[in-house]
Amino acid sequence: DQMLGPSGTEEKIYVSVRMRPLNDKEKFRNDVPDWECINNTTIIYRSHLSISERSMYPSAYTFDRVFSPDCCTRQVYEQGAKEVAFSVVSGVNASVFAYGQTSSGKTYTMSGITDCALVDIYGYIDMHKEREFILKFSAMEIYNESVRDLLSTDTSPLRLLDDPEKGTVVEKLTEETLRDWNHFKELLSVCEAQRQIGETALNEVSSRSHQILRLTVESTAREFSTNDKFSTLTATVNFIDLAGSERASQSLSAGTRLKEGCHINRSLLTLGTVIRKLSKGKTGHIPFRDSKLTRILQSSLGGNARTAIICTMSPARIHVEQSRNTLLFASCAK
Ligand code: ADP
Ligand code: MG
Repeated sequence: DQMLGPSGTEEKIYVSVRMRPLNDKEKFRNDVPDWECINNTTIIYRSHLSISERSMYPSAYTFDRVFSPDCCTRQVYEQGAKEVAFSVVSGVNASVFAYGQTSSGKTYTMSGITDCALVDIYGYIDMHKEREFILKFSAMEIYNESVRDLLSTDTSPLRLLDDPEKGTVVEKLTEETLRDWNHFKELLSVCEAQRQIGETALNEVSSRSHQILRLTVESTAREFSTNDKFSTLTATVNFIDLAGSERASQSLSAGTRLKEGCHINRSLLTLGTVIRKLSKGKTGHIPFRDSKLTRILQSSLGGNARTAIICTMSPARIHVEQSRNTLLFASCAK
């Protein structure tokens, strides 16, 4: 299998869809898969509905890559994210997103991809002794357009500042220099603990918040060479576990959830707009500044940066509307 698209398509956003297996709850309800991956790039709607209902759904959707329920996360990483994530070692910024409704497998997929990427980056470092590498790690959560440091016990919101050289900077965000793989895993458990604190105070935070894990890779040639213009390289890769895509639907923006709904809409909808514009190669105004998420990611989206989006979905009939929305989002992004 081709790892990621042929060269020359590098500016393009790489879009794949991962379909998870039916879960126990869905099986218990005797739910049936409404969607099927018929090959490596195509998902079809297997209609169990009436002819009139069928007309609402195009029957086939194609993407750069489609992962069927029996694909493992290593495969999703290798074929859906690796090349994009790895550009960080050659000095190119990157973003890898998981997009989909709550319980479709975003966290499962993104945490596996992050682990695979770190394993591979450490492997690469071992094989490139001619350079010295420094890895820096930070983690944040965006909830209600408020940014929180997941490596600090201080839960107060962080401000975004405009730096003339670096662009948008998250003020006071903790940045840890990674000692090794075990240190990385320790920091992930700190993040998880910090997330849990929010979880108990506010119901269902994980479906409403965006989590960004950020790895900065700096490397320097150990020996000076006069023609080595790349003697020092620095780039950042972001792994983004997005809020549940159902939070972008207008129906949730009612009553007591109005505030949250609006803010989630803002970050997810702005991301959608930004990605659609970037995928069409629009050179005009791209509204990065309209949400915290897109401001933070601006230097890792568009321009020379590489982007991969993995959309996750359930095959179950009960989720047909949300799955369809996810596939439409994915279609617009590619
Ligand atoms: P989300 O983050 O989108 O809300 P999760 O990643 O938490 O969803 O997944 C929901 C549940 O489904 C979890 O228990 C997870 O372990 C399981 N799951 C998700 N994707 C898969 C998969 N591809 N294979 C097996 N189990 C999965
Ligand atoms: Mg999740």
